[in-house]
Amino acid sequence: MRDGRIILLMGAPGSGKGTQSSLLESQFGFTCISTGAMLREEARQDTSAGFRLRQIMASGELVDDRTVCAAVGSQIKSLVAQSNGSGANLVLDGFPRTVEQAMCLDQLLEEIGMPGPLVLHLDVPQDVLLRRLARRRQCAVCGAIYSLASGPGFAGLSAGGGRCRIDGGTLVERDDDSEGVVSRRLAAYETATLPVLDYYRKRDFRSGIYRRLDGNRNAAEIAKEVCDIVLFFADTAVAA
Ligand code: AMP
Repeated sequence: MRDGRIILLMGAPGSGKGTQSSLLESQFGFTCISTGAMLREEARQDTSAGFRLRQIMASGELVDDRTVCAAVGSQIKSLVAQSNGSGANLVLDGFPRTVEQAMCLDQLLEEIGMPGPLVLHLDVPQDVLLRRLARRRQCAVCGAIYSLASGPGFAGLSAGGGRCRIDGGTLVERDDDSEGVVSRRLAAYETATLPVLDYYRKRDFRSGIYRRLDGNRNAAEIAKEVCDIVLFFADTAVAA
């Protein structure tokens, strides 16, 4: 695959973005930038910025565009610099979430000479999302995702005795997966993020590719389709 590719994994909370981005890392050597993980890390700091982030994230609202764009921008630039000019293959999980963020990403990609993104939209009905989020557990150590029930959802894993299979870490429910917060996160997705999908859907083929995937399937089936699309995208010329 040519270097310097960028994939955006889009979808509501619980749509399987984390699972598919792990696959893109392990199968194709993409480097994943998860804004949720990045912000959770920032929020753990004992600073006023950390406190402010904890409050926003616990409420289920979105963090402001300026903060998120600055963090993602510097991360992308640093990964591109580390690639010694060959370009980095990146997957963004959870960014952009607003049209402003999408415009900011466009500007950045143009500035650093990266091609337009491949946008993969994992589409999942709301009732399925609610069921998945209620059953989702995460390893407190490495962040691996598990589901308390088997079936379509998270990597086909089930929580074995409350411990992570990778490092034995405790499996916990994310604070923002509680019922009240989930409804606000889904509302934020509908209001702020659905317009981003339109933004990409209407694009000219040369400046990016948008693909909708049925996300209400087994993770392995989705992974197979993701791989096929990525292999096609790998050799398709998309303008910077
Ligand atoms: P996630 O792990 O992607 O579900 O993100 C968890 C929380 O982090 C979200 O509910 C937001 O509060 C915040 N967040 C993550 N990504 C973004 C983003 N691109 N823009 C604004 N807030 C974000």
